[in-house]
Order: sequence, then structure tokens, then C-alpha cells
Amino acid sequence: MITADLTNIRIEKSNLSSLKSVDFNALDFGKYHSDHMFLADFNGGKWHDMRIVPYQNISLSPATAALHYGQTVFEGFKAHKAKNSNDIILFRPEKHWERMNKSMSRICMPPISKEIFMDGVIEMAKIDRMWAPSQEGCSLYFRPFAFAMDAFIRVKPSDSYYFIIFCSPVGSYFAGKLNVKIETEFVRSAEGGIGFAKSGGNYAASLLPAKNAAANGYQQIMWTDAKEHKYIEETGASNVMFLIDNVLITPCLSSSILDGVTRDSIITIGKDLGYKVEERKISVDEIIRSLKDGTMQEAFGTGTAAVISPISIINYLGEDYEVPAPKADGFSKKVAKILNDIKYGIIEDPYNWTIRV
Ligand SMILES: *Cc1c(COP(=O)(O)O)cnc(C)c1O
Repeated sequence: MITADLTNIRIEKSNLSSLKSVDFNALDFGKYHSDHMFLADFNGGKWHDMRIVPYQNISLSPATAALHYGQTVFEGFKAHKAKNSNDIILFRPEKHWERMNKSMSRICMPPISKEIFMDGVIEMAKIDRMWAPSQEGCSLYFRPFAFAMDAFIRVKPSDSYYFIIFCSPVGSYFAGKLNVKIETEFVRSAEGGIGFAKSGGNYAASLLPAKNAAANGYQQIMWTDAKEHKYIEETGASNVMFLIDNVLITPCLSSSILDGVTRDSIITIGKDLGYKVEERKISVDEIIRSLKDGTMQEAFGTGTAAVISPISIINYLGEDYEVPAPKADGFSKKVAKILNDIKYGIIEDPYNWTIRV
């Protein structure tokens, strides 16, 4: 039931740019936003009134359903300024559109058509193209999201929604060492729940365990399954991969694991590089064993924000295990370079992942 008017975007340009006030050499993650934002409304059974307006606050009723019951979804992907032209290059936006609709479906939100999503993204990229940083490692992060707008205090799917896209010039996400703690008490999500959806409540559930771990010097949690705490699921808000005995191993997808676009990209490139890839259940025991017997070569988180984050230390039941530092010619460095070269348009994109604007 994808319903839409012809995508006809009304554009109201900002007459005051804040571009000059941003120090592009000291970009954090998500600290700044570009001059415009895209909006669409859902009510009366359809998405309509697509518009781009100056970035601004929105006004909400205190009874807004999303604020009470968490009927929200979001996405995140990046655009990079091309190395050898003035284009900006969007990385796999259509895959993010697909996933957003999967998230929406799980929490009873009406789907967004590909036309509305992609037209919104491309028009935002055009109007705020000056916001794509040219500094090494920096990018323009797109944050599409949607939430329930009914001002109605009863638990039910909303009849009205907002879909919004804003953009943020960003630097790199992680700085420094990544020490993780294998979590054996709390869970982020359980099978049958909404862990595979990029929906607000999953992140609320992760805050306290992450805060506790941080107090002990661990920047991220390595989540385990909700039933037995025996199998690895994800790390922080990213997927997790291991190179053990030259085999790339990552937890298979399930209803409690988010289907990461970076995960998919790395698996695809890894296979093309000739690596054996296994998507399967991976037990905590297997991780600890491979750390002890030296067969663990790499462990890293994968996600749009940080792309590949090498893990230095894995803590399990109070014991710290060191992961070998990634080698210059190791798996993650090779894959990161190929991904980077595709994203900046340095090499031809063999996978049709990118869109140039
Ligand atoms: C967004 C996210 C990821 C990574 O997905 P990408 O599409 O690679 O950015 C992984 N796990 C969780 C829980 C996430 O929210």
C-alpha cells in the first residue's frame, strides 16, 4: 500500500547559511546540521506535502505518540565529496530505503515509496552540496527518520506520521582504542522483538549497560543472545566480524540482529577478494578459545558511522583478552581501502552501490 502523490517537492530556500560558522577541521559526529531539511506528512492514508525548508525546530503536542510508545524508525548513510570531481557520491541509499521499510513494517508504520525517499535524498544532496566536507575521512551524514504524530494517549498504531531527512557534516566516529565487554546480564534485543529494526527503543535499552561498561573502561558492549548469553550478536550499535584462521566469520542475521549495510558490503568485498565467509552462530566459547590459542587474527565492528572499528580488547567474565592489532596488509585494512576508494570515486564502483549528484 505505497501511496503517494507524484513526488513534487516544494522548496523554500534558507536565506541565511550557517556554513561559515562550522569548523570543518574539527568536525565531531552529529554536532552540526546543514541549512535545510526534507519533510513529508502522512495522514488520510497517504504521504504528501513533500517539501524542503530551512532547518528548524518542529512543534509537537505533549501527547505525540512517538514520545510515549516509541513508534519511531531511523536510517543513517553517508555521502562523500568525490576526490576527482565536484560530485558528491551517495553510498547505497537505496539499500537504506529498503531497510527503513522493513523497520517500518515491524512497527506498523506505512511504507515510504522509493520515489519519495530517493527524491528527498537527492534534492537534499543538491541543495546542501556545499556541506559535504572535502577533508580526509569526513563526509555528509544523512539521517532519514520517521515517527508517529498522533496526539493520542492510547497504545495503537498512529494514523499520522512525519518523515524527515536532515544532513550533518561529520568527522570520524571513533577515536582511540576500542575495548569491548561481552555482556552476560543485559540484552539489547531478543528473538521475536524489534532488534532487526532501526527503531528507537533498541537504543534506549542499550544505554545503561553501555554506561556501566564505560565506567569500567569498555567503550562498547559485545551483545550476546537473550536466551543463553552463549552466542555473539553485535557490538554497540554495529555488527561484528572476526577473522579466525583466515576465515571471515560473522553472526548470521536473525530478528534480534540489525542487517547492516556495511556488513553486507564487507561480506561482498571479502568474497570477491577470495576469502571464505561464514555467516553463522558464533559462540562466546569459540571467541575465547581462538583468542587463547592465537587463531583470532582480527575482530572489528562494522557500521556506517565508523565503517570498520578494530577491537583491541575483549573482556569476558572479568578477564581481558587482547586482540592482535590489524596488520597493514590484513583483511580489514584491505577491505577498508576498497570501500573508501569506491566511496570517494577513486576507483570504478563495480557493485553499482553509489549515486553521484
Ligand atoms: C545501524 C546499525 C548497525 C550498522 O548498520 P549499517 O547499515 O552498516 O550502518 C548495526 N547494528 C545496529 C544495532 C545498528 O543500529
